[in-house]
Amino acid sequence: MPTRNFNSVVTRIKASLNRVGELNELGTIPGEEKDYPLIQVVIGKGNPHRILISGGIHGDEPAGVETICAFLENKLYKNFIKNWEFTLLPCINPTGFETGTRNNRDDIDLNRMFREAKVPREVEFVKSVLEQPYDLDLELHEDVDSPGYYLYQKDHGPVLSSLGRDILNEVAAIHPINPAEDIEGIEADRGLLSRLSEPDEMEWWPMAIYAFKQGCSRVFTLETSPALPMDIRVKAHLKAIQAALEGGSVNSQ
Ligand SMILES: [Zn+2]
Repeated sequence: MPTRNFNSVVTRIKASLNRVGELNELGTIPGEEKDYPLIQVVIGKGNPHRILISGGIHGDEPAGVETICAFLENKLYKNFIKNWEFTLLPCINPTGFETGTRNNRDDIDLNRMFREAKVPREVEFVKSVLEQPYDLDLELHEDVDSPGYYLYQKDHGPVLSSLGRDILNEVAAIHPINPAEDIEGIEADRGLLSRLSEPDEMEWWPMAIYAFKQGCSRVFTLETSPALPMDIRVKAHLKAIQAALEGGSVNSQ
C-alpha cells in the first residue's frame, strides 16, 4: 500500500486551478503533526445547473480522489462550463486517505453517519455543502469485492431516468461492468442498482441518501473495481462524469 499524502492532493488542486474558480476551506480535522483542511472547489458559480462530485469518503478508495485531481488538471469542466456550476469535494476523509483505511482516524465509517444527530466534522462539512440541493450528485467510490464497475441510482420523479444506463454504456468501453444479479444484497441489472430501500425505512443513511433527502434530483454512487489498474479506474470515473454531464442537463426538469 503506497503512502499517500493529503498535502500533495491539495497542492495539485491549487496548481490545477490557476485562478479558475475558487478553493474554499470549510473546516479542519486536527491531526497530531498537522491539521487537515476540508476543501471544496467551486467552478462556474451561478450557472444554471449544479453538480456535486465527491471522492475519498472512504480512505482506501483512492481512485475517486485521483479522478477529481485529473478532472481539474485536464480542465474537463471546460466543455460544460456554460451550463454547469461544479462543486467538487476532492477528499472527504483526509486522515483515512493518508492511512489507506476506509474509516477516519476515529475509526468511524463516515458514509454510515448521515442519519445521526451527532456527526463527525467531515460529515458536518458535507452537510453544509448539501444545504442547497444539486441537479446531480456523483459520489466516487471503489469496491474491493467487485470484479467490475457498477452504480447505485436514485432519482426524484415517478420514472427512473436513463442516465444510469447511459453512464454504464459509456463506462463499459473502458472498464468491465459487474454482471452479477445481486450486488451488496441489492438486485442488479448489468451494473445498475436502482431498486433501493426507501430512506425512511433505512437504519442509517449514506451521503447519497442524505443528498436525495435534501432535494438533489439525481444521485449516483459509482463503484470501480480496485482489481484493475488505477489509470483504468480513473478513466472509467472520468467517463462516468462526462456521460452524466452530457445527459444530465438534457433531461433535467
Ligand atoms: Zn466506498
